[in-house]
Amino acid sequence: MNRAPKKVEWIPAQVEGRPGFRLMVILTAPGCAYARTAGGCTNCGFPQTFGTGKPVSAEDYLAQVRAALARIPAGIEAPVEVDLYNSGSYFNPEEIPETAQGAMLAMAAACPEVTSLLVESRPEYVSAARLERARDACGGKSLEVGIGLESANPEILSRRIHKGYGWEQFAGAARLLAGAGVRLLVYVLLKPIGTGEREAIEDSVETARKLFALGHELKCPTRVALEPCFVVPQTPLYHAFEQGRYRPPWLWSVAEVVTRLAPLGRVLVGLSDEGTNPLQAPHNCEHCTGRFRHALAVFNQTRDAERLRALSCECHKLWLVEAERA
Ligand code: SF4
Ligand SMILES: [Zn+2]
Repeated sequence: MNRAPKKVEWIPAQVEGRPGFRLMVILTAPGCAYARTAGGCTNCGFPQTFGTGKPVSAEDYLAQVRAALARIPAGIEAPVEVDLYNSGSYFNPEEIPETAQGAMLAMAAACPEVTSLLVESRPEYVSAARLERARDACGGKSLEVGIGLESANPEILSRRIHKGYGWEQFAGAARLLAGAGVRLLVYVLLKPIGTGEREAIEDSVETARKLFALGHELKCPTRVALEPCFVVPQTPLYHAFEQGRYRPPWLWSVAEVVTRLAPLGRVLVGLSDEGTNPLQAPHNCEHCTGRFRHALAVFNQTRDAERLRALSCECHKLWLVEAERA
C-alpha cells in the first residue's frame, strides 16, 4: 500500500527554540539505494525495516503526506516541525521522483501550523539545483537537511561503519546547504561497531566539535543529532552483539557526551530504538535506565543539561570500569 505512510508520530519537541511538536512521517518508500546496491552501513536496519525496494509514484507520495498532515491538531499555536523520512535519500530521484521532492514539501509548508521542515539525504544527491527547488517549495519556511556523517574519524567512518563517503564529500554538501540558505542537521553515531566505550565518547565529542566549527565557518545553522547506537537484526552489528563482541552504549556515556556538547551548540539525542530488546538498546542497569531516558527526553525539550549532571546510580562504578578499559 503506497498511499499510506509507514508510520506517523506526533512528538513534543523544541521547534525553532520554542516548545512545540514534531510530526515525524516515515514514508512508504523504496529505501536507501546505497543499502540495496552496496550493502549499507554496518548498524543500519532501515532497508530491512522500512524500505520496500519498490518505486513509489509522485502521486502516491503526496497521498501519504496528505494523510500524515491530518494528524496535526487544528488551530494548534505551538510551532510544528514536519520531518519527511524516506529511509534513504530524499534528493535521490530513484528513491523520490524530483517532482514529488518539491511537491511534498510545498504541501506540508502550506499548513499554517508548520514552521519548519526536515528531510534527509546522503551528500552525493545534494545539488544546488535540488536544494533551491526544495527551499523555494517551502515558501519562506525553514528547511533543514539531515546528513548522517556519524564520525569525522576516517578510520571509523569507512572501515567500521562502511559509510561510503568521507568528510570532504560531506563538507561539500554542507557548503551547498549554506549557499542555498538551508539548515544542516548532522547525525553522529555514538559507539559504532568495533569501538570501545571511551573511544566512542571521545569520537562523538570530537566529531560534534568539528561540525559546529564547520557550521560556524559556513555561517550555516547547524544542529547535531547524537544517535546512541542500537542493535537491529540482520546487520553486521547484530552478529557482533550475538557473538558478545558488542554492547550498546551506556546511558552514562550518552549523558557525558550531551553535557560536554550542550555548551557548544544545538544538540539533540536520538531516543528511538525501534522497540528493540532492551539489551540491544543503549542502557544502564535496570534501576536507572528509565530515569536516564526520561532525563534525556527532557533535555531534548529544554536543552538544559543540569538534570543529566544530577543523575546518580550504583552502576556508575561499572560504567567507569568499562569506559576506562582500552
Ligand atoms: S545509514 Fe543511511 S546511508 Fe547508511 S544504509 Fe542506512 S539509510 Fe543508507
Ligand atoms: Zn544504574
